[in-house]
Amino acid sequence: MAEKKAKEFFSEAEKLAIRDAIVAAEKNTSGEIRVHMENHCKGDSVKHAEKIFARLGMQKTAERNGVLFYLAVLDRTFVIYGDVGIHDKVDDHFWDSIRDHMLPLFKDGRFCQGLCEGIKLAGDKLCEHFPHKDDDVDELSNDVSFS
Ligand code: CA
Ligand code: CA
Repeated sequence: MAEKKAKEFFSEAEKLAIRDAIVAAEKNTSGEIRVHMENHCKGDSVKHAEKIFARLGMQKTAERNGVLFYLAVLDRTFVIYGDVGIHDKVDDHFWDSIRDHMLPLFKDGRFCQGLCEGIKLAGDKLCEHFPHKDDDVDELSNDVSFS
Protein backbone atom coordinates (compact mmCIF):
# COMPACT_ATOMS: atom_id res chain seq x y z
CA MET A 1 0.00 0.00 0.00
CA ALA A 2 1.38 3.39 -1.01
CA GLU A 3 2.08 5.85 1.76
CA LYS A 4 -0.14 8.89 1.92
CA LYS A 5 1.24 12.05 0.37
CA ALA A 6 1.14 15.43 2.08
CA LYS A 7 -2.14 16.64 0.57
CA GLU A 8 -4.12 13.53 1.47
CA PHE A 9 -2.25 12.82 4.69
CA PHE A 10 -4.94 14.36 6.90
CA SER A 11 -8.70 14.05 6.44
CA GLU A 12 -10.79 17.21 6.14
CA ALA A 13 -11.92 16.71 9.74
CA GLU A 14 -8.31 16.42 10.89
CA LYS A 15 -7.32 19.57 9.00
CA LEU A 16 -10.19 21.39 10.71
CA ALA A 17 -9.06 20.05 14.11
CA ILE A 18 -5.55 21.40 13.45
CA ARG A 19 -6.97 24.73 12.36
CA ASP A 20 -9.09 24.87 15.52
CA ALA A 21 -6.00 24.11 17.64
CA ILE A 22 -4.19 27.06 16.02
CA VAL A 23 -7.17 29.40 16.52
CA ALA A 24 -7.42 28.31 20.19
CA ALA A 25 -3.67 28.77 20.79
CA GLU A 26 -3.69 32.21 19.18
CA LYS A 27 -6.47 33.31 21.55
CA ASN A 28 -3.82 33.33 24.32
CA THR A 29 -0.86 34.85 22.51
CA SER A 30 0.09 37.40 19.87
CA GLY A 31 2.36 34.69 18.41
CA GLU A 32 1.32 33.22 15.06
CA ILE A 33 1.38 29.47 14.46
CA ARG A 34 1.29 27.72 11.09
CA VAL A 35 1.46 24.13 9.87
CA HIS A 36 3.05 23.37 6.49
CA MET A 37 3.33 19.96 4.85
CA GLU A 38 5.34 18.52 1.96
CA ASN A 39 6.17 15.07 0.64
CA HIS A 40 9.94 15.40 0.76
CA CYS A 41 12.36 17.69 2.55
CA LYS A 42 15.28 18.85 0.39
CA GLY A 43 18.63 19.06 2.18
CA ASP A 44 19.05 20.09 5.79
CA SER A 45 15.63 20.03 7.43
CA VAL A 46 16.11 23.11 9.64
CA LYS A 47 17.52 25.21 6.76
CA HIS A 48 14.67 24.03 4.56
CA ALA A 49 12.07 24.87 7.22
CA GLU A 50 13.65 28.33 7.42
CA LYS A 51 13.14 28.72 3.64
CA ILE A 52 9.51 27.62 3.87
CA PHE A 53 9.05 30.03 6.78
CA ALA A 54 10.27 32.90 4.57
CA ARG A 55 8.25 31.72 1.55
CA LEU A 56 5.09 31.80 3.67
CA GLY A 57 5.92 35.38 4.72
CA MET A 58 6.06 34.30 8.34
CA GLN A 59 8.92 36.73 9.08
CA LYS A 60 6.48 39.62 8.56
CA THR A 61 4.78 39.48 11.97
CA ALA A 62 5.07 42.69 14.01
CA GLU A 63 6.82 41.01 16.95
CA ARG A 64 8.71 38.41 14.87
CA ASN A 65 6.96 35.68 16.83
CA GLY A 66 5.78 33.26 14.18
CA VAL A 67 6.16 29.51 14.73
CA LEU A 68 6.15 26.97 11.92
CA PHE A 69 5.42 23.29 12.38
CA TYR A 70 6.95 21.75 9.26
CA LEU A 71 6.33 18.13 8.21
CA ALA A 72 7.75 16.21 5.24
CA VAL A 73 5.45 13.21 5.40
CA LEU A 74 7.22 10.72 3.12
CA ASP A 75 10.61 11.49 4.67
CA ARG A 76 9.20 11.43 8.20
CA THR A 77 10.89 14.78 8.85
CA PHE A 78 9.57 17.23 11.38
CA VAL A 79 10.83 20.68 12.41
CA ILE A 80 9.48 23.34 14.73
CA TYR A 81 10.89 26.67 13.56
CA GLY A 82 10.44 29.89 15.53
CA ASP A 83 11.26 33.44 14.43
CA VAL A 84 14.01 35.70 15.85
CA GLY A 85 11.67 37.49 18.26
CA ILE A 86 11.27 34.22 20.15
CA HIS A 87 14.99 33.37 20.06
CA ASP A 88 15.72 36.76 21.64
CA LYS A 89 13.63 35.80 24.67
CA VAL A 90 14.21 32.09 25.21
CA ASP A 91 17.03 29.57 24.98
CA ASP A 92 17.54 27.04 22.22
CA HIS A 93 15.73 24.33 24.14
CA PHE A 94 12.46 26.22 24.04
CA TRP A 95 10.97 23.82 21.52
CA ASP A 96 12.61 20.61 22.68
CA SER A 97 9.96 19.80 25.25
CA ILE A 98 7.26 20.26 22.62
CA ARG A 99 9.11 17.99 20.18
CA ASP A 100 9.62 15.43 22.93
CA HIS A 101 5.90 15.46 23.61
CA MET A 102 4.95 15.11 19.93
CA LEU A 103 7.42 12.51 18.66
CA PRO A 104 6.03 9.51 20.60
CA LEU A 105 2.55 10.34 19.30
CA PHE A 106 3.93 10.60 15.73
CA LYS A 107 5.75 7.28 16.12
CA ASP A 108 2.42 5.82 17.19
CA GLY A 109 0.80 7.18 14.00
CA ARG A 110 -1.24 9.75 15.92
CA PHE A 111 -0.12 12.69 13.77
CA CYS A 112 -3.20 14.88 14.11
CA GLN A 113 -3.27 14.47 17.88
CA GLY A 114 0.49 15.10 18.09
CA LEU A 115 0.22 18.30 16.08
CA CYS A 116 -2.82 19.58 17.98
CA GLU A 117 -1.15 18.95 21.34
CA GLY A 118 2.13 20.49 20.11
CA ILE A 119 0.24 23.57 18.91
CA LYS A 120 -1.43 23.90 22.31
CA LEU A 121 1.92 23.61 24.12
CA ALA A 122 3.47 26.16 21.75
CA GLY A 123 0.57 28.53 22.46
CA ASP A 124 1.04 28.10 26.21
CA LYS A 125 4.78 28.81 25.95
CA LEU A 126 4.30 31.78 23.61
CA CYS A 127 1.72 33.21 25.99
CA GLU A 128 4.40 33.64 28.68
CA HIS A 129 6.48 35.91 26.45
CA PHE A 130 3.93 37.25 23.99
CA PRO A 131 0.58 37.65 25.76
CA HIS A 132 -2.53 38.17 23.69
CA LYS A 133 -3.49 41.82 23.11
CA ASP A 134 -6.92 43.36 22.83
CA ASP A 135 -6.12 44.73 19.39
CA ASP A 136 -4.76 41.40 18.14
CA VAL A 137 -4.64 40.86 14.40
CA ASP A 138 -4.64 37.39 12.86
CA GLU A 139 -1.46 38.03 10.89
CA LEU A 140 -1.03 34.60 9.32
CA SER A 141 -3.49 32.06 7.97
CA ASN A 142 -4.56 29.31 10.36
CA ASP A 143 -5.09 26.75 7.60
CA VAL A 144 -2.65 23.91 6.98
CA SER A 145 -0.66 24.71 3.80
CA PHE A 146 1.14 22.46 1.30
CA SER A 147 3.85 22.56 -1.33
CA1 CA B 1 -2.40 37.24 16.11
CA1 CA C 1 -3.00 32.99 12.69
